[in-house]
Amino acid sequence: MRTEEKQRRQISQTTGEYPRKHLLVAGAVVAVVLLGALLLPGHTAEATRVSMPVDLNLDAKNTSSDVPPKNPEQPWQEIAIRSGDNLSKVFQRVSLSASDVYDIVSNSKDSKQLLKLHPGEKLAVQVNDAGRLQALKHIHNRLETTLYQREDNKFITTHIRREPEIRQNYSSGIITSSMYRAAQSAGLSQNLIMEMANIFGGVIDFVYDVRAGDQFTLFYQENFLDDKKLGNGPILAAQFTNRGETYTAYRYIHPDGSIGYYNKDGLSMRKAFLRAPLDFTRISSGFNLKRLHPVFKTTKPHRGIDYAASRGTPVYAAGDGRVSKAGYSKANGNYIFIKHGSKYVTKYLHLHKRAVRQGQPVKQRQIIGWVGSTGYATGPHLHYEFLVNGVHRNPRTILQKLPKAESIASHEKEAFLEHIDGLQMQLAAYYNHHNLAKANQLSGGSTL
Ligand SMILES: [Zn+2]
Repeated sequence: MRTEEKQRRQISQTTGEYPRKHLLVAGAVVAVVLLGALLLPGHTAEATRVSMPVDLNLDAKNTSSDVPPKNPEQPWQEIAIRSGDNLSKVFQRVSLSASDVYDIVSNSKDSKQLLKLHPGEKLAVQVNDAGRLQALKHIHNRLETTLYQREDNKFITTHIRREPEIRQNYSSGIITSSMYRAAQSAGLSQNLIMEMANIFGGVIDFVYDVRAGDQFTLFYQENFLDDKKLGNGPILAAQFTNRGETYTAYRYIHPDGSIGYYNKDGLSMRKAFLRAPLDFTRISSGFNLKRLHPVFKTTKPHRGIDYAASRGTPVYAAGDGRVSKAGYSKANGNYIFIKHGSKYVTKYLHLHKRAVRQGQPVKQRQIIGWVGSTGYATGPHLHYEFLVNGVHRNPRTILQKLPKAESIASHEKEAFLEHIDGLQMQLAAYYNHHNLAKANQLSGGSTL
């Protein structure tokens, strides 16, 4: 019997988020584990990484059941799908007849799937004593399989979905030289680094304001199958201390399924405008503002902010709005202007290419173009301007003066507080264990 037969399987179960009470239960488990670990010596490294396997499916999946194979004594024969394969070709390779193809295609529900086989998928067949097809597994990927089992003269279809085991992990880092290096040495993937930057993109200017001594902690999910990591899940909670000020963000799923990050008071981390309209990881180091604008240095005040980045770096809309202008001029090169409501306009100059057209509505963080050096620019960079009622303002300081972010609706507040309770407990236990962020204990209140 193959090992996969022995593994826990779940039938046609597609669960998204596990119920909140299970998360809380798991939270208690983590807290206990962490408290138990307090006796361990503390970490002194710049970046720490703790693996904390927690199976959140402990009791969430009690509806699962095993499907007994029809003919347990018959071995399964597995066939990899090659490009250009169809069911007939695959069946020929394992000496199954054309009538087997006919049987399964015409006598089973969902057999349409079998007409579209994709390279990378697998089929597994079970043959009876008479050499006829008894059962077929269409293995779409490591998580999804469709099982066809012969019963009298038709095939019964079962969808089998394996749920990845969800574990939780923490990563912390203290910034000594660069944000990116600290994140990497904390073992964060590129995606997690970007996700963290995304979460805090409205409150922290990762390009200009990150300093040595800043620190962060991420509490996130990892998906495993058979003890092999499939990938990272979402960040559940994140904390970033920037120049002495601590921001904490908790992931929350609204009843309508939408997801947001909020501080402990339910104030959204998402602001009307990004602190920087491009990813900090792409900004060139050692950037000197004066070096870039020899053309206007003496003749014209510099009314925007320059981000030196390599050609092709994506440029984001700083906020929701509508493209009021998209064009080319000798001075600006390729440029985009975006109008946000009646008061605000953001401008993006010297783009290598534009990605949006005049009149088009845009969402925050939508790519509107790519960094270039068109127009009066000596090297690739983004020139970014921020106007309030037609007046140029400093993009780095104006944002504090803009309207407050949205809060969790009052009718959701109770559910939200209950949800973050467990997360707060887990973070606090983690900090206790690692003696981290002494000055920034959660009870000390994070600011936003
Ligand atoms: Zn400039």
